Amino acid sequence: MTDPTSHIRRRCRLKGVVQGVGMRPFLYRLAVDQGLSGFVYNDGRGVVVEVQGPAAAVDRFLARIPAELPPAARLDALEVREAAPGGEEGFRILASPEEGARFTRISPDRATCPDCLAELADPADRRYRYPFTNCTHCGPRLTIIRDVPYDRPRTTMAGFPLCPECRREYDDPRDRRFHAQPNACPVCGPKLYLLDSNGAPLASDDPLRDAAEALRRGRIVAVKGLGGMHLACDAANPEAVARLRSRKVREEKPFALMVRDLDRARALARVSPEEAALLESPARPIVILDARPGAPVAPDISPGLDTLGLLLPYTPLHHLLLDACGLDLVMTSGNRSEEPIAFRDEEIVPRLRDIADLFLLHDRPIHLRADDSVVRVVRGQAMMLRRSRGYVPDPIRLPRPFTHPVLACGAELKSTFCLGRDDYLILSHHLGDLENLAVLEAFEQGIEHFQRLFYADPRELACDLHPDYLSSQYARHRGLPLTAVQHHHAHALAALAESGDFSPALAWTLDGVGLGTDGTLWGGECLYVDGLDFRVLARLRPLPLPGGEKALREPWRLGVSALLAANSVEGERVASGLFPDRPVALVRQMLEKGINSPLSTGAGRLFDAVAALAGVREEIAYEGQAAILLEALALRERPDLLETLEGVPAYEWATESGEEVALLGWETIIRSVLRDRRAGLSPGEIGARFHAGLVQELARVTRRLRGRTGLNRVILTGGVFQNRVLLANLWRELDAEGMDVIVPSAAPVNDGGIALGQAAALWLKNR
Ligand SMILES: [Zn+2]
Ligand SMILES: [Zn+2]
Ligand SMILES: [Zn+2]
Repeated sequence: MTDPTSHIRRRCRLKGVVQGVGMRPFLYRLAVDQGLSGFVYNDGRGVVVEVQGPAAAVDRFLARIPAELPPAARLDALEVREAAPGGEEGFRILASPEEGARFTRISPDRATCPDCLAELADPADRRYRYPFTNCTHCGPRLTIIRDVPYDRPRTTMAGFPLCPECRREYDDPRDRRFHAQPNACPVCGPKLYLLDSNGAPLASDDPLRDAAEALRRGRIVAVKGLGGMHLACDAANPEAVARLRSRKVREEKPFALMVRDLDRARALARVSPEEAALLESPARPIVILDARPGAPVAPDISPGLDTLGLLLPYTPLHHLLLDACGLDLVMTSGNRSEEPIAFRDEEIVPRLRDIADLFLLHDRPIHLRADDSVVRVVRGQAMMLRRSRGYVPDPIRLPRPFTHPVLACGAELKSTFCLGRDDYLILSHHLGDLENLAVLEAFEQGIEHFQRLFYADPRELACDLHPDYLSSQYARHRGLPLTAVQHHHAHALAALAESGDFSPALAWTLDGVGLGTDGTLWGGECLYVDGLDFRVLARLRPLPLPGGEKALREPWRLGVSALLAANSVEGERVASGLFPDRPVALVRQMLEKGINSPLSTGAGRLFDAVAALAGVREEIAYEGQAAILLEALALRERPDLLETLEGVPAYEWATESGEEVALLGWETIIRSVLRDRRAGLSPGEIGARFHAGLVQELARVTRRLRGRTGLNRVILTGGVFQNRVLLANLWRELDAEGMDVIVPSAAPVNDGGIALGQAAALWLKNR
């Protein structure tokens, strides 16, 4: 046994998010604290530290590293080996060796830390009310990095030389701002300015105060944030909110609200402990919460819904703006519908001049756009609905490294891409629906940027099976070995990658639509997934989509389609009665002749059909709206529907357990919907009964499939599982049966998670 007082020396390598997060000063303090000598430096792969001293002190030093990490750091590995003791004095921070930089992790952007907030509020501090205050624990990261290694000249802070005071902080290992690359103060850092709606400069000695005043007067202010522009207005002012809606051409999609603090969030919505933790986390996502009845916000913040998307301020600029105006602010992405969020200085005014009355801008460029992330809590678990600022580029870890770097190109809606290298799956920021050139450009630039930042030169690609998606076309143009991954297989693999365990599982993939291996549109399947192999065990009876794309925007078409399938004799007459203003006969002819009526098992389409027949909605203004409203009405009718289905008369299914594939027949449900509608039941009650029936049927079929396959693991994924009533109840039922239920948390169950599953497929292929 070694004598605890004898001197030993250890050389350690730290990997993870270990640069630009205050790691060296932290190790410096620990070493000095333990009376150790040695040194620390950054290199192209992370941090290297050598310490020497009594064995017991060295052990304590090593134990304290993971236990007391700086808040923004993420430690993936701490490799320790013996070294020969030498004769040195004290502990030093050394310059980085000149070498080609290599891959190291980059931190996501982080909300302002308590220390910086205290300075912001202290009239005696030199950063009093300075909107760009930050330190190694907080502030911008990914959005300002132009290139690596992460150093000020390679960020958008390059144009702001440090003043002597900031330089002193930056050079002092004992300072919270030691090597804080975005360090700034009122003397040397970025500044705010105002432009009028035409982009002409407005003289102002306090742009924040003037912007706050405009907000109080009901104006729409474009605010430059961390990852892009926001459009802000007074959330309690109905005229302002209505004006923003009409100018932004966002007729019904909910707006997110930024509120001062957690107490204020609690005044507007019910907030569970998990939700509170998310709201206050350094990632500061938008959290979808149940609104309090009568919450003082304009009625059309979330039209037809009883939820509010709230977020807390995450930059000093936000804190100061909310303080100055004293309002809850609508904070919606600065774009027109369909376009990506505006973030480059030269595009801000041209793109937003018809929407904003005033521009509150600053002169620190944004290099990478990043929308606010969106999260919801179901059964105590966070579920990512949109993964972007604050979470990207944190990777998902694999059990073993990739043999070579790969790139997965994702799907079409809610587009993301995913780089794979080492044992990391690096899922990109949210790019929007990949349906136009602006989003395609953002997609291509994002890929280029990530490849550079993470030193990943992909040697193999993955894309969706659908050849027409712009992402699939892009993948083919790269001219590298390419694997097309079936859409729902990718959904399931994403869930497995996150769980860290690729052993076989059942997977309910309930979705909008994705191309199946048989050329039809899937989205209502239960798959047996064993790594790269999968097969369909059960599926919804296919529903023809009369009008193709058009049927996605006009649920009444699906209502007619389902009705005719359920009752071919009287269907048309009944449909004409339900939709008197619609060309029902034309749709019947299309269906009969099979004109432009592709078959789809997509569960989202069944929700649409039921919503239309229940009288919820004949046309929609955004993707999934009919189903979202049906769920909201069901919850309004039966507020405990998330906790129990007891007492809800569930609609019966007509399932045929085939030899190979069980077919879940919904014709009986359609007849029940019509019966209840004729009996005068509300759309909400019909919605509740439909949800209850679906949960019970899925649970029943799962039990059967468990018996048949012997598998006790079941994945619940696909965009339809964003429906809380469905997810919470099915999850609980399967849990109660002792099944191992896998519900993705870190990556979205919607198509924002597809690229992750595709990259996992390449990992499986090469392992
Ligand atoms: Zn800070
Ligand atoms: Zn300064
Ligand atoms: Zn999908």
